[in-house]
Amino acid sequence: MSRLNPRQQEAVTYVGGPLLVLAGAGSGKTSVITRKIAYLIQHCGIQARHIVAMTFTNKAAREMKERVGSLLRGAEGKGLTVSTFHNLGLNIIRREHARLGYKPGFSIFDEGDIKTLVADIMQKEYAGDDGADQVIQQIGAWKNDLILPDQALSRARNPREQNAAIVYLHYQRTLKAYNAVDFDDLILLPVKLFESQPEVLEKWQQRIRYLLVDEYQDTNASQYLLVKLLVGIRHQFTVVGDDDQSIYAWRGARPENLMQLKSDYPSLKVVMLEQNYRSTSRILRCANVLIANNPHVFDKQLWSEMGHGDEIRVIRCRNEEAEAERVAMEILTLHLKTGRPYSDFAILYRGNYQSRLMEMKLQHHQIPYRLSGGTSFFARQEVKDLMSYFRLLVNPDDDNAFLRVINVPRREIGSATLEKLGQHAGERNLSLYEAAGDPALADHLDGRYCERLVRFVRWMDGVRRQCAQNDPIAALRSMVMDIDYENWLRQNASSDKVADVRMGNVWFLVEALKNTLERDEDGGMTIEEAIGKLVLRDMLERQQEEEEGAEGVQMLTLHASKGLEFPHVFIIGVEEEILPHRSSIEADTIEEERRLAYVGITRARQNLALTFAARRKQYGEIIDCAPSRFLAELPQDDLIWEGQEDAPVEAKAARGKSALADIRAMLKR
Ligand code: ATP
Ligand code: MG
Repeated sequence: MSRLNPRQQEAVTYVGGPLLVLAGAGSGKTSVITRKIAYLIQHCGIQARHIVAMTFTNKAAREMKERVGSLLRGAEGKGLTVSTFHNLGLNIIRREHARLGYKPGFSIFDEGDIKTLVADIMQKEYAGDDGADQVIQQIGAWKNDLILPDQALSRARNPREQNAAIVYLHYQRTLKAYNAVDFDDLILLPVKLFESQPEVLEKWQQRIRYLLVDEYQDTNASQYLLVKLLVGIRHQFTVVGDDDQSIYAWRGARPENLMQLKSDYPSLKVVMLEQNYRSTSRILRCANVLIANNPHVFDKQLWSEMGHGDEIRVIRCRNEEAEAERVAMEILTLHLKTGRPYSDFAILYRGNYQSRLMEMKLQHHQIPYRLSGGTSFFARQEVKDLMSYFRLLVNPDDDNAFLRVINVPRREIGSATLEKLGQHAGERNLSLYEAAGDPALADHLDGRYCERLVRFVRWMDGVRRQCAQNDPIAALRSMVMDIDYENWLRQNASSDKVADVRMGNVWFLVEALKNTLERDEDGGMTIEEAIGKLVLRDMLERQQEEEEGAEGVQMLTLHASKGLEFPHVFIIGVEEEILPHRSSIEADTIEEERRLAYVGITRARQNLALTFAARRKQYGEIIDCAPSRFLAELPQDDLIWEGQEDAPVEAKAARGKSALADIRAMLKR
């Protein structure tokens, strides 16, 4: 407790009522949460199993768990829940699935599954012009606002929404028939359950005596309600947030939720923190001056005693190649000169696609790195194949999974057979898997085709039995051998090396499942749950487990960097149309982009460099790029501009005080 400042202490020790800690970046909000968990356990007699702390990413949850762990002794922390909203939702659904009308082993659909499903429904039921992506986004928005299909239909204000609502209706029905949920359902279903069955809610309220939420500014309507329901009339909770770091409006986040608290809980206590313990004054000033361009509901001050620090460097590069090279060389040089470990460096960017070139350069210079995001492990074909087998194993109603695996590897089951199967399933209201094993199928289908389907079902049933009986991991391993997946990979890969890598991923997946099972503290986790957890982890942050714990330069998107801190930070592609993103310029949502830049800048502890390219290749064409308008908004006295030598005259003048006008002039061109 001694290291906390008086305001932080106040926030930690206030347990009698609802509390909001509202403060800027690096002021110790997350620290308050971790310290408070320890305080609740050690000084308030609340058992760890009655405490739930929520964060936004799995990475943040892991870090928080570690931090709390170091503050606790022995078994004090047993049963503590530190999880993401979605993980908590998943746990609730798992325990209450019967009340929700789901069978155990339900599938969680990922983006790819959803897209296939929606495209399929649209083909049959859709009359509008929108693409699947737009409809999916609309459905997501409804779900985040807790609007069910029939409500969406009755509220639709135009044909566009009407059409989307019809898809939504079919989509939701199909999901249910598949015994599957999507990402948004993980919050929506618990909320709807709690609203309709107070006795279930009460049970959960009894379990959760104290609730803490980090990054509260990014909760959406359904998450807000979930928190509200769970705290019930007890009103004992702590939420911390920073409205300037709200960067998920596109996913339905409502920074107004911070305001809403005051009216929902009139006794709400608000603690503001003003001292930043993370960054040098220069970095902090940059962040403060930049964000001052946004309108503010709350006025926050932020100061630091971390010293003045070095200037912030703004580096202009010839093109994106030179930019990546420059960043790689700087890191290499600093690492060699100062002996700083590579993990002290972070490269942040607006979009995942920006990481590719950077990755190549780092590889070229043999600089180790960790990539959070990028091509997802779970987006790979072989991983998707195997996951589909796993899913079908635990959830025979998952028609998507069935269709994915039925001919991988080839089983000579043609599209005509599958069509007949689909018909039969539709008529009898069976899943494809059930239909495949249904004797009555023989009325529609030639004997030898039936036999192939039956053979598949019998085999799968056998694997399922084995999984249930003894060592599920061993059963899965022999399943992989049974289908001779390796051979299938070799036939379809461009080279042996590629096939090796893919097969490695397959075994890695089985290993990951094994680890998930072993890591479970309570020991009661089933293989179904472990599989569900795997899918979820990927959907949340798309992080490869193999890279966890590795030493290396951290590469991540600005979104993924929230809550983290690094001694050296490079933000690349600080250009118009990238940061701010083109779509935000078009939609006039620059403020959210500015917050994103604010998040990026405030990740840096000692050194910050912002880079941009004068030209870059886009869709095969070389285009001129303009430096981001945010650069012109920074306090120019704190910046050093580099790489202007071969720049046009306007850009050269963009130093010191005149930079603003010059950059504006450049932007206009
Ligand atoms: P963000 O808004 O980026 O999530 P935050 O408000 O959650 O930031 P923390 O991550 O909790 O801030 O803290 C930032 C840094 O300051 C951490 O390294 C933390 O250990 C340190 N810190 C927090 N409080 C104190 C304190 N009272 N004394 C010294 N260091 C502190
Ligand atoms: Mg934090």
